[in-house]
Amino acid sequence: MSFNIINPTGIEKKSAMEAVQEANYKVLDKAFIANTYGRLDVCFVKGKGSTLYDNNGKKYIDLGSGIGVTAFGINDEVWSQAVIDQVQKLNHVSNLYYTMPQIELASKICEKTGMKKVFFSNSGAEANECAIKAARKYSIDKYGKDRNVIITLENSFHGRTITTLSATGQDVFHQHFFPFTPGFLHTPANDLAKLTALVESNPHVCAIMIEPIQGEGGVMPLEQDFVKGLTQLAHSKDLLVVVDEVQTGNGRTGKLYGYMNFDIEPDIVSTAKGLAGGLPMGATFFNEKTQLVLDGGSHGSTFGGNPICAAGAVTIMNRLTDDLLDEVASKGAYIKEQLVGTKGVKSVSGLGLMLGIETEAEPKDVIAKCLDKGVVVLSAKNKVRLLPALNIPQEDLEEAIAILKECIANL
Ligand SMILES: *Cc1c(COP(=O)(O)O)cnc(C)c1O
Repeated sequence: MSFNIINPTGIEKKSAMEAVQEANYKVLDKAFIANTYGRLDVCFVKGKGSTLYDNNGKKYIDLGSGIGVTAFGINDEVWSQAVIDQVQKLNHVSNLYYTMPQIELASKICEKTGMKKVFFSNSGAEANECAIKAARKYSIDKYGKDRNVIITLENSFHGRTITTLSATGQDVFHQHFFPFTPGFLHTPANDLAKLTALVESNPHVCAIMIEPIQGEGGVMPLEQDFVKGLTQLAHSKDLLVVVDEVQTGNGRTGKLYGYMNFDIEPDIVSTAKGLAGGLPMGATFFNEKTQLVLDGGSHGSTFGGNPICAAGAVTIMNRLTDDLLDEVASKGAYIKEQLVGTKGVKSVSGLGLMLGIETEAEPKDVIAKCLDKGVVVLSAKNKVRLLPALNIPQEDLEEAIAILKECIANL
């Protein structure tokens, strides 16, 4: 690859390298970035709140928030200031030492959830790896090394590492990378009889792991009775209930954590995506029973709980108030009300600002058309998925939903 292509737009005040890179970004992306992503034809360069701008200056309303990550939008003032302040104070020292933002964040999380301890990592998959390690260790410490099997649900998604792929209950993810980590069993969601039979027939089970709403699986909320029954079953046999809140956590569903929509108390909770408002951070929470399972040297992370990410996350946690959560719920209700029963919409699933729209048209066609009309939406399996910023202004939301509705109706 040679860098000899002249910037055709001739925009001033750019270095030659910048100009070349901008003119050829698609070629360069294809040449130098591993071919794992099918990119949509847009290059975002900046934004504010729920507004994004591409490299041609075109404006978009964002209903995706970077897959549920920028919880308070792009370049949110409070978040940006806290992150900038922390960058200038102390960016990293590792977990060999105490750092204040991490302590502040963990204590806030425990205060708000009633959980007892937090382990910080850098992504959803890592938060789940930690949850899986802790669930196994709890049981192995107490009952011996054979009690190590974790039951997860069909159609679940738990991450991209070899172990979290094993946990993921979708065969499409079980190709190419053999051998996968053993010790996972999958059972259909919302079938308590099948789950019970699986538990009864397998003395090696140590935990049951669920997403309160299966996100990547098509925004499928679990049924109340199933979650309640599953928890009762698990706790009657000292199996841990592990809740993957990577997507449903941090206010997304209109509750602080998705499990709070169900009347249960999990033993271990993992989260990531929206936690630090746009910086990479994962976290695993432990309750009274599991808080001491991970002990000295049994787990660790170089970057985990990094002061910059933690400082950003504190500003998110601080603003997940009851008022904000009510707003999330009412905006979700508004979207449902606007879309249910309209032309081209078959159904709408989900809670709060985590919604899946089953459309007559292919989701990918809806996404492309919306993008063309200046609205960013996502997909999840056979659905169009919406994960807007929790504080998306009502007028932006109304404008975007009107456009989305029109796109769905006219495909
Ligand atoms: C996104 C997601 C993950 C994986 O998170 P990464 O940060 O991409 O590793 C795991 N579980 C659920 C439920 C998710 O939505």
